[in-house]
Amino acid sequence: MSSMDQTFGINVFNDFVMRERLPRETYRTLHKTIDDGRRLDPQVASVVANAMKDWAIERGATHYTHWFQPLNSVTAEKHDAFIAPVPGGRVISEFSGKELVRGEADASSLPSGGLRSTFEARGYTAWDPTSYAFIKDQTLCIPTAYCSYSGEALDKKTPLLRSMEAVSRQAVRVLKLFGRDDCTRVVPSVGPEQEYFLVDKALYDRRSDLIFAGRTLFGAYPPKGQELGDHFFGTIKPRVQAFMTELNEELWKLGVLAKTEHNETAPAQHEMAPIYSVVNVACDHNQLTMEIMKKVAGRHGLMCLLNEKPFEGVNGSGKHNNWSLTTNTGYNLLEPGDSPYESAQFLLFLMSVIKAVDEHQDMLRASVASAGNDHRLGGFEAPPAIISIFLGDELTEILEALESGASYNGREKTDMAIGVHMLPKFPRDTTDRNRTSPFAFTGNKFEFRMLGSSASISTANVVLNTIVAESLRQFADELEGADRFQEALHDLIVRNIREHKRIIFNGNNYAEDWLAEAERRGLTRLDTTVDALPCYTSEKNIRLFSTHRVLSESELKSRRDIGLDSYAKMTGIEAKTMLMMARREILPAVLRYAGDMAEAANRLRSFNPEQPHTAAAALAAKLSCGCDRLHKGIEALESAMSGIPRSPDPLTEAGYMKNVVLPAMQELRSAADDLERITDRKAWPFPTYDELLFNV
Ligand code: ADP
Ligand code: MG
Repeated sequence: MSSMDQTFGINVFNDFVMRERLPRETYRTLHKTIDDGRRLDPQVASVVANAMKDWAIERGATHYTHWFQPLNSVTAEKHDAFIAPVPGGRVISEFSGKELVRGEADASSLPSGGLRSTFEARGYTAWDPTSYAFIKDQTLCIPTAYCSYSGEALDKKTPLLRSMEAVSRQAVRVLKLFGRDDCTRVVPSVGPEQEYFLVDKALYDRRSDLIFAGRTLFGAYPPKGQELGDHFFGTIKPRVQAFMTELNEELWKLGVLAKTEHNETAPAQHEMAPIYSVVNVACDHNQLTMEIMKKVAGRHGLMCLLNEKPFEGVNGSGKHNNWSLTTNTGYNLLEPGDSPYESAQFLLFLMSVIKAVDEHQDMLRASVASAGNDHRLGGFEAPPAIISIFLGDELTEILEALESGASYNGREKTDMAIGVHMLPKFPRDTTDRNRTSPFAFTGNKFEFRMLGSSASISTANVVLNTIVAESLRQFADELEGADRFQEALHDLIVRNIREHKRIIFNGNNYAEDWLAEAERRGLTRLDTTVDALPCYTSEKNIRLFSTHRVLSESELKSRRDIGLDSYAKMTGIEAKTMLMMARREILPAVLRYAGDMAEAANRLRSFNPEQPHTAAAALAAKLSCGCDRLHKGIEALESAMSGIPRSPDPLTEAGYMKNVVLPAMQELRSAADDLERITDRKAWPFPTYDELLFNV
């Protein structure tokens, strides 16, 4: 057995460990809970807790924590030791069933978006037995959902679990129509590819913008960036390889199926992709992955940047969310299938996604909105802030043939009739045939590519699961009432192709004319977070999420408000960081250098009065002009920052930050970057792009 087999999942209380350590009856009951989402019997819980504790202590743990995912995209933990006092001044280790199943979290400083008033600051955490407990830094971590006392979701896991229920409920209804009574549960499978940058820690420490904002707010573009395309899939340098090796080892110990690693498009940019798993586990694992990436980078003198756009002018980082639906019998519903019947079923599930995406472009866009991602979407490499679906030519032709009733002149020569004809197998997209599409069908799954690299994947999947649940609900309603299933199915699919084909676009999403074309098709365009987030509380979306019991109106409003509020806060932090760097680092440094040049010009003149010595004098003059522009930029940004409007609705402030503060930031940056290009490297106060991007 290789060492990988021995260490994989070594810190996870997984099924293997449970079977080994739990009494057979307990194990069986727990499994029922996990498989059917039933409530756990308290007695069973206490047996599980005890076994978990013993296992954790054997593995060196001293503490336990309810590990949860509050609304600010990071994870939260509060450690408690496993100790209980006994008479005589000694302690024993203790961990009860109650402590496993439910915890109290006085987390009044975590964002709640008005769901929890501070006087009733307590919320509670509840064990999610479908995601295994694990040990991290001597602490047993129990994945939990986090709710207020009135049961409102204060976290990212609760709605995700609810959305899984919703899509399962509707998918099972549809499968029944195809006679698949053995399918009692359907789960979304997700494999999120994670992009990131690595920079040298010593250089990072000298840049306040990286420290406070996680991205550079200044920086002139270097002579070479990603133009040559020589980084993508390039040879991995030894220092990066050492990081990746250790990252894999750490992730494997935690049961994360880290699989693929490679260099990405931008210099210093890399990617890690795990093997897909059930979406809530994928989400937990992605949170862990981001945390471990940062930790391991530190051990190699590196900093891992997860911000969506750390450097202007080169690619930003995203997460590609590969999504499909899997039945409890192990069947992928987005797999074209081996018989006419399976083909029909495939087409119906495919249509459910196409319809969902077309009807809910706004929510998909909103689900990936953040200050950081705004700098990436619509930018250089990433999909523009317009949603469309890439299906590939073959599948598109089939849909067109179905719609027009014409014969499909690919492999089939006869009329395509649903339920009678088999679809060809579509080649898996191994080479990313269309890297520009925000939502691409890749053979047996959809890849949603707009997610930001630092975000939790929860929100996007909550939306994806719910909107597909809604399509399936409508399909099931219609088909359950039909007299002749086959014909009703055919009609439904053809009608839906007609209604939703506008969302299918196989061309280049970065092309200039796509914007006009998308507008002609009536597709939604929401360029920024400020434009996108208000749709959380539109009447249509409130109805959608309450129909499927995923998010109530107040829960939706809280998410809208928190999103807008953090947009405003993040932009404010960036603006203040820029002011600090410009006033206290750039301006003094360049003025000093300009003074040196002026002095040099004078000295040279006295040395030889006949010679004009224009170089030094001209440079001094240029620097001086540039400093004036920089100074003006500082004053303008300061004045913008002093005018931030206060309002109970965070949309007001967020809108102001976008419309007034961001443009002032851009002008200040441009003034500074122009100065950087003409200032002595030694005089510039912090490391520049070429050092940051090409040093590791
Ligand atoms: P690539 O797209 O780079 O060719 P793959 O298609 O194999 O690579 O996978 C990319 C990601 O998609 C991986 O995380 C993989 O586990 C995941 N994936 C593969 N099949 C599915 C599926 N049926 N459902 C969800 N994710 C999947
Ligand atoms: Mg990819």
